[in-house]
Amino acid sequence: MSYCVNCGVELDDSAKKCALCSTPVINPNALIAPEEAVDPFPVRMVIPAGVRRRYAAFIASMVFLIPNIVCLVINLIFNFGYLWATYINATSVIIWLLFVFPFLLKKPKSYYIIPIDAVGVILYTAVFYSVQRGEGWLFKLAIPLILVVAAFAFSVVECIKRKGLDWPLLVTLILLQFSVVSFAVELLFRYYYSIKMLPVVSIVIFACCVALAAFFISVKRNKRLRAWLLRKFFI
Ligand SMILES: [Zn+2]
Repeated sequence: MSYCVNCGVELDDSAKKCALCSTPVINPNALIAPEEAVDPFPVRMVIPAGVRRRYAAFIASMVFLIPNIVCLVINLIFNFGYLWATYINATSVIIWLLFVFPFLLKKPKSYYIIPIDAVGVILYTAVFYSVQRGEGWLFKLAIPLILVVAAFAFSVVECIKRKGLDWPLLVTLILLQFSVVSFAVELLFRYYYSIKMLPVVSIVIFACCVALAAFFISVKRNKRLRAWLLRKFFI
């Protein structure tokens, strides 16, 4: 064991210089040759990706939280007859829930993230609905639309996660789901505005999706076509 000649701090046997004041260590009786010495601590601090991700999410959460508290406090002091901070607070909560919250979790899973997001968006919509005293659109249109989009997001995520699906099949599946969603969305709008329950726009979307899927599948299946496309665009 040795001590720094300058500041007196205890030195590790392998130290080449004092960790505190950087004075070089010259010890003629050293047990380990300085060249062979292994540093007692790593030179660089390595933070696991998961920790870094959650740390960033924590900082982002604070960036959301602090201005919101300030707004709410100012609102409570200078109340111009209504809670204007509600808009800021509700919008911040929904942005945080959708984009920051998943990064705070160790292993985010789609089966609970997407339902939580859907409930959050419904509550967010409900806040505006109640502030603006809407007439029926929340239950007849907004909530069904949010649920349809959430179901679509969930099934797309599940399809992408499934290994072994080659990409034309994956794209075809997503396009198929998209046409089902467009069908549901159109019927919801037609129901809300009391228009004839006849899918028109969604039939066009469906036709486009089928044509696109046919294109992707033929590119995948046809080796000559694929080779021709590669030659055409990547050389
Ligand atoms: Zn020292």
